[in-house]
Amino acid sequence: MDAVAKRVRTFVRVKPTADFAQDMIKFGPDNKSIDIYIKKDARKGVVNNRQTDWSFRLDGVLHNTSQELAYETVAKKVVSEALIGCNGTIMCYGQTGAGKTYTMTGATAEYKHRGIIPRALQQVFKATAHSVDPFVTVRISYLEIYNETLFDLLSTTTSNGTSDVQMAVVDCPQGVYVKGLSIHSVSHEEDALNLLFEAGETNRVIAEHTLNKNSSRSHCIFTIYIESRFRVFSDVKCVNSKINLIDLAGSERLSKTGSEGNVLKEAMYINKSLSFLEQLVIALADPKRDHIPFRQSKLTHVLKDSLGGNCNTVLVANICGEAVHVEETLSSLRFATRMKWITTEPVINETYDREGTVKALEKEIILLKQELAMHDSLVNRSLVTYDPLTDIQIAEIKSQVHKYLKGAIDEIDIVNVRQVQEVFKQFKLVVSQQEHEVEARLRSKYALIDKNDFAVVAAVQKAGVVDVDGHLVLEEDGQDFGTRTAPFSSRRGAKKKSRKSNEQPKKEGIGSSHSERDLDGFLPSKSQVITATKDLDVKEGARNQDTANIDAELSKPAPVEDSQRPSSPPSKPVAFEQFKEECGSEISRIFKENKSILLARKKRSSTVAQRINFIKHEMEGIKKALEAQKQERWQQGEYVDEKGQIIIDEKEFLLIMKLKDLKEEYRSGYAELQDLKAEIQYCQHLVDQCRNKLVSEFEIWYSESFLIPKDVQEALKPGGNIRPGMIPINRVMCLEEDEQERFERMQETMLPACPASVSFYKAKMKTDQKRTYARTMSSLEQMRKKPGLITAAGKNKPLSFLYVT
Ligand code: ADP
Ligand code: MG
Repeated sequence: MDAVAKRVRTFVRVKPTADFAQDMIKFGPDNKSIDIYIKKDARKGVVNNRQTDWSFRLDGVLHNTSQELAYETVAKKVVSEALIGCNGTIMCYGQTGAGKTYTMTGATAEYKHRGIIPRALQQVFKATAHSVDPFVTVRISYLEIYNETLFDLLSTTTSNGTSDVQMAVVDCPQGVYVKGLSIHSVSHEEDALNLLFEAGETNRVIAEHTLNKNSSRSHCIFTIYIESRFRVFSDVKCVNSKINLIDLAGSERLSKTGSEGNVLKEAMYINKSLSFLEQLVIALADPKRDHIPFRQSKLTHVLKDSLGGNCNTVLVANICGEAVHVEETLSSLRFATRMKWITTEPVINETYDREGTVKALEKEIILLKQELAMHDSLVNRSLVTYDPLTDIQIAEIKSQVHKYLKGAIDEIDIVNVRQVQEVFKQFKLVVSQQEHEVEARLRSKYALIDKNDFAVVAAVQKAGVVDVDGHLVLEEDGQDFGTRTAPFSSRRGAKKKSRKSNEQPKKEGIGSSHSERDLDGFLPSKSQVITATKDLDVKEGARNQDTANIDAELSKPAPVEDSQRPSSPPSKPVAFEQFKEECGSEISRIFKENKSILLARKKRSSTVAQRINFIKHEMEGIKKALEAQKQERWQQGEYVDEKGQIIIDEKEFLLIMKLKDLKEEYRSGYAELQDLKAEIQYCQHLVDQCRNKLVSEFEIWYSESFLIPKDVQEALKPGGNIRPGMIPINRVMCLEEDEQERFERMQETMLPACPASVSFYKAKMKTDQKRTYARTMSSLEQMRKKPGLITAAGKNKPLSFLYVT
């Protein structure tokens, strides 16, 4: 059934009386309206004199109506819709003695005078008896609310009629329910009626002696729960509904009762809960109201999902026909017309029963296993089982994997999916074991430092233990930490280690120039940085790989030297140190500076991330505490001010304020973290750029300083023809050969004609050589002066890679 908005249906039932005020109460011809006329003299007393006539329009007037017809008109439809899954509520409202109990329960003495409750039970059981689906369960409960206390009228445990302390109205996603209220399964109409008449009445009688002297001072809610189950393929569909049948306490005004003491207190409670009910009805009828004060009283809280919402709701206003009761009659009719404005959207409550679904699936699995067994026997695989692997089977697979890895067997036969998965699992185990072993072996030999911690790198670099990128260059057992020359052989092992920079560095082995304590102070809290900048760390890892490559490049032995050179050039790592202190000092300084800025940002980011996490944690705590406060408030009953706003205590208020502050803090922290992330990325970029530049500048410097022949070096000296970095070294070195080639070509073409010309041409060639050289130099100089010429080294920097054509 689609949710279609309906109005609450309202009826008025007039109690038959010999003194029926015919002149005062008139019924409309369609039996759907009731008019009240007050004569002038009657007005003097109680009735206000602004209006003398009232007309109320309802869904039906029940006057001189039998119980049967009353049921047909009021309840039958509600019950039949409950049988297909819609909740229903029928409520009797009116002054004491007006016939609420008669309408709801009826007179127990005579069958035909039975009321809505027994008739509803009868309809439900008749329907389930005819139902083709055997899985229908019917349960009942009977709740009494007296002086804001809940009583279980069907309770078998609390026989003295006092309140069961554990009972409470509880909200849950499926609606409200009363915790602690006994709900009884009934399989026959008779069982249900027995409970209603015997247990219900007995408990009430007992209650009358203790607290509840008059049942008309309490609200009674009889509930019928209906649950039907259907199989829809493998799902088990559940249709649930409940019918609330409510006999409200007498609605008479407090002033009229003239009560005192305990009775006054009772009357106050009744009036309070009924006026809360009235407020609730007004709120529900107003489509603009977003706060509905359900929790103001136990009654309204219990009725939360029975009034309005997705429920078929019906109200019966019970009135007395005598003139003396006209004031109460008017008040009941007013209440009924207000109820009429409430709209509801009845829906079918369908759920899917997990337990039932699981059982259905289990059946399905058994069936499929049988199918599989049949299939296997047909294709000769009858020995294969599909149960989870036993320990013995797992051990067997493990040994197979090991044999396969050692080459003892060529392949592992596929048996079934479970076995394949286990094979993979075993491979994974082997890989992770090996990783651990390798790591342990390296750890036992090398120490680790954090490449990004500038302080540590600088300190250790000074000691000659690491190179510019923070790579550890000495073996632990290498004795000479003080010297700057690092043996190349040790570098590779050390580098492998430094890539795993998130591991705690080992202390031992950082020897002579720094004591262990000194270094401890330097050691980074790397794990913090890692958690905070996780995404950046991925890049970091990749970059470390890059720098390791550069490093490896640098550590390669210098190319084979010019045979003319008397001594071999220094090794690159040594030269690099020199370069950093001399020509490369500026760029090296910028590089280090950028690195330390990057590190500072990363550290800040980590702190902010931790702070945010902490705030989040704290917020969650407060939210929980607030929820608990709310629950407590609902259970203890809520206080509202004159505007209908809920009054909360100081503790809850403080919690709300604290939560607000924390949210603000969280927001600002989050914004800062975003900014930091962007900054870190930018800094990282700068550091990478600097690193590349440092290395390329070094390469140029190295070539120009050590690999260029003496005469070219002369030209490179200050005041010489060539400036450092102006031409690629290989080009300079091969100039002569190019000329040689040209000469040979010339010889080939010219010599056959005139062999004597050899000397001449040789001399000419030498002159040409010198001229070409000079021309090249001057054109290079001109190009250098051209604006906007950018090279790999940057604007206005030496033209390191400009090729001469
Ligand atoms: P309430 O529950 O509203 O206080 P009751 O249902 O106890 O009122 O009614 C008071 C008396 O009036 C009872 O004796 C009841 O049998 C009788 N009575 C009420 N309504 C009717 C009715 N429609 N027909 C016959 N008797 C009625
Ligand atoms: Mg009653």
